[in-house]
Amino acid sequence: MRILLVEDDDFVRSRLKEVLERNGYKVDTATDGEEGYALGDTEPYDAVVLDIGLPRMDGISVLKSWRKEGRKMPVLILTARDDWSEKVAGFDAGADDYVTKPYSSEEVLARLRALIRRASGNASPRLTCGAVELDTRSGRAFVDGSPINLTAQEYRILDYFMHHKGKVISRTELTEHIYDQDFDLDSNTIEVFIGRLRKKIGREYIRTARGLGYRMDESAKRRS
Ligand code: CA
Repeated sequence: MRILLVEDDDFVRSRLKEVLERNGYKVDTATDGEEGYALGDTEPYDAVVLDIGLPRMDGISVLKSWRKEGRKMPVLILTARDDWSEKVAGFDAGADDYVTKPYSSEEVLARLRALIRRASGNASPRLTCGAVELDTRSGRAFVDGSPINLTAQEYRILDYFMHHKGKVISRTELTEHIYDQDFDLDSNTIEVFIGRLRKKIGREYIRTARGLGYRMDESAKRRS
């Protein structure tokens, strides 16, 4: 999953970026409102962490502009402690949730997981597809109840598929959501990763939609 982090405080930004990356997210960062607005308006993010007090364009204006442009990605705002008016303004501008500073990394992570899950229509933190299960809290995957070992790359792909079960996902979409903006790769690499993932979870779950991409489907019956 790919996150946009808009925060002007260098220390807070680098620390949060590190925590998010350690938890498997790909993170693009912006240090002011204008840069943040431009990124969020053009790149496909699974969620945004947005500070309210920002130079050049404040967080509320950034958020309002995105929503006006029809950008629907979930947005978690960072607000000052005890400032209820900031929270109200944030929700009115289209925020989905907030954390107050100083926040704990665990809280930010939990709220982001919930936002991403709900945005893709999943109610439970444990996602299932036939015999495949993904626990988004622990970042572990299971087949028939037994844990399987996935590389970080394989996990990110499975995570994206499991969140968007039944939907056809193009290679471009997949690439955009599992890499950050600086990454440059050819589509064959994705095929290699999908091949490895299929070997680990069972070939039948990730179907190739010819010319379109892939679809993770739970109606597939396991053949022995
Ligand atoms: Ca700030």
